[in-house]
Amino acid sequence: MGLEGRVALISGGGRGIGRGIALALARDGADVAVNYRRDEEAAKETAEAVRELGRRAETYAADVSDWDACRQMMEQIAADFGGLDILVNNAGIASRGQSVADTDPNEFERVVRTHVFSAFYLSKLAVPLLRARPRGDIIMISSGATRTFAGNGAPYNVGKAGMEALAKSLAKEVRGDNIRVNVVAPGLVETEMGKRLARATRGVQNIRDLDSSSPFGFVCQPEDIGNAVAFLCSEQGRYITNDVLYVDGGGFPGR
Ligand code: NDP
Repeated sequence: MGLEGRVALISGGGRGIGRGIALALARDGADVAVNYRRDEEAAKETAEAVRELGRRAETYAADVSDWDACRQMMEQIAADFGGLDILVNNAGIASRGQSVADTDPNEFERVVRTHVFSAFYLSKLAVPLLRARPRGDIIMISSGATRTFAGNGAPYNVGKAGMEALAKSLAKEVRGDNIRVNVVAPGLVETEMGKRLARATRGVQNIRDLDSSSPFGFVCQPEDIGNAVAFLCSEQGRYITNDVLYVDGGGFPGR
């Protein structure tokens, strides 16, 4: 897909969907800055897997819901790689599945901060770096949750809606700088978060028990999300901005 010579930062890139995105972008030629918050071992494994694909990779510990931490990380990445071409706002946490009436205000703030503020902080810091390059791409990893805004998920729903609003506002501001801003919205994906979700909402201990009832006969894999991100960032995706790509096998039934 021709991402050679481009540098990508993936928030929460150490494991789960973030790792799938890191490997897809590296496979297509990009060097990768892998951000993580706590799981250093997973981030180092992802970086090693990127290097095995022949690309450069470095790891960066930073809580992306913290402005100062984002600022320091971005300065370090610019120094290490000499710039940035692709930002993927992927880091995320689930909410506790409670109604608005039962949601703790601290939980609401933590979830919204993790999705919306982190995406704002990193996008704000990335834009000047992307403007200095021939082409820039910003991808927000939202969720199929924004198709339905189901009950008992308000913190998460609001967080993802905020990311999408940020993407659509920003897309209009930076099109003239040759920067594309898009949203990728997965359905259920086999990751730690996906497994917890499957246990809590579908009553299965093994997420793969959902294969037969899933679109196309399998639960979506991190690489499927990575492939969508790689396409949007590629030359083939050059005319796509301000858009939302649902990668959820169509999303039905129930939608
Ligand atoms: P995981 O729980 O498996 O991984 C979460 C990742 O986010 C980890 O890499 C974690 O870092 C990182 N992270 C969380 N908070 C922070 C923070 N404050 N600063 C830096 N990194 C942070 O989740 P997934 O891989 O499944 O989810 C990735 C994204 O995809 C999320 O935005 C999620 O909402 C979205 N999504 C997931 C779906 C699913 O079914 N799995 C469905 C739809 C959307 P660390 O390892 O250091 O803790």
